[in-house]
Amino acid sequence: MARDDGKFCQPTGAGNRIAFRRQNSPSELWVWAEQRRGRLLPVSLELLGKARELAPALGAVPAAVLLGHGVEEAAGELFAHGAEKVYLVDHPLLRLYQSDACADLLARLAGEHGPEVILLGATTLGRELAARVAARLGTGLTAHCVDLYVNEEGRLVQVVPGLGRGTLWEYVCLRNPQMATVKPGVFPVPQGDSGRRGELVRVPCDLREESLRARTLEMAEEEPAGVSLEAAEVVVAGGWGLHAAGGFEPVWELARLLGAAVGGTRPAVDRGWIPEELMIGQSGRTVSPRLFVSLGASGAMHFTTGFLGSGVIFAVDQNAGAPIFEVADVGIVGDLRAVLPLLIEELRRARGGG
Ligand SMILES: Cc1cc2nc3c(=O)[nH]c(=O)nc-3n(C[C@H](O)[C@H](O)[C@H](O)COP(=O)(O)OP(=O)(O)OC[C@H]3O[C@@H](n4cnc5c(N)ncnc54)[C@H](O)[C@@H]3O)c2cc1C
Repeated sequence: MARDDGKFCQPTGAGNRIAFRRQNSPSELWVWAEQRRGRLLPVSLELLGKARELAPALGAVPAAVLLGHGVEEAAGELFAHGAEKVYLVDHPLLRLYQSDACADLLARLAGEHGPEVILLGATTLGRELAARVAARLGTGLTAHCVDLYVNEEGRLVQVVPGLGRGTLWEYVCLRNPQMATVKPGVFPVPQGDSGRRGELVRVPCDLREESLRARTLEMAEEEPAGVSLEAAEVVVAGGWGLHAAGGFEPVWELARLLGAAVGGTRPAVDRGWIPEELMIGQSGRTVSPRLFVSLGASGAMHFTTGFLGSGVIFAVDQNAGAPIFEVADVGIVGDLRAVLPLLIEELRRARGGG
């Protein structure tokens, strides 16, 4: 079913605070449907699956907000994966993600329809959009959640790895909409049902180029170097402990021999050993390979949260008390300077000279 909500949605101008009032009944739990050229990112479907699960406890219906141009087909996929309603804003200027415009449009829509909750993927764009929308609506936002549930008071509890060893922190937003960004890959993509239908709300939009303070002209996606992290059956990740082994070179070699993708910890990124997009953890990627190899990483929860779904976790660290051994299935306590050359040599031998 499609309807036109008859209101004109236009940007309010950067920075304007938008009044928020609950209008729709029953209330709604929104997911921002992030897409590239009309193709939804998996995290949008992961969030819809979670939204469907949470909706009854919130007394809300799951809905998605789709901003773009020529992307209507994606609405069908959103219905198939659990959205009961899709707000579609279609405008030629939204062919590419436009930061100010998307923030204004989403905030304006939320101000008009009063969703209980807004969830976004903790992607590069999701993170910046969420912060802008929360500021415009004057509400709270929890970033990088790894779990969500509804408490006895009917508030959304947002779970994030905390500072300190092995702690998870839980937050609630005291205002509506309760906003959270969620790491891609922490929830499964729900089974789609192409027979499922919902209500498509076309939101008219008179976006004008002159109202954009900055305009996205092009978005280029880089092909990942080597084996892609998410698709890899084996991932080798390095941490700060590699400084002793002269940096990341041995990690690349080990990965080559194992046919593995390479990742690392925050210090490995800060040190410039690997690019930021290879960082694993709460602020980085989530992987679930059959084998995860951790080399010289202490096992902070910010890091381990990114690979706990792996089949077998193998760790090397010189500190027997490092928390990495609490999550590892197999481990070697030893100095990487001694252990890494041995591992590489053994693998070369096994592969007939590598
Ligand atoms: C909000 C927030 C988000 C964060 N997000 C992330 C994230 O997404 N990903 C991430 O990785 N971090 C993240 N961090 C940082 C995180 O808390 C840790 O500081 C980081 O993961 C530690 O990296 P590390 O294990 O490489 O370094 P360290 O904790 O310094 O550990 C180095 C390890 O190397 C070992 N070692 C040293 N020398 C040798 C040797 N010769 N042989 C063998 N072992 C050796 C040491 O025993 C030690 O266990 C985040 C922090 C915050 C506050």
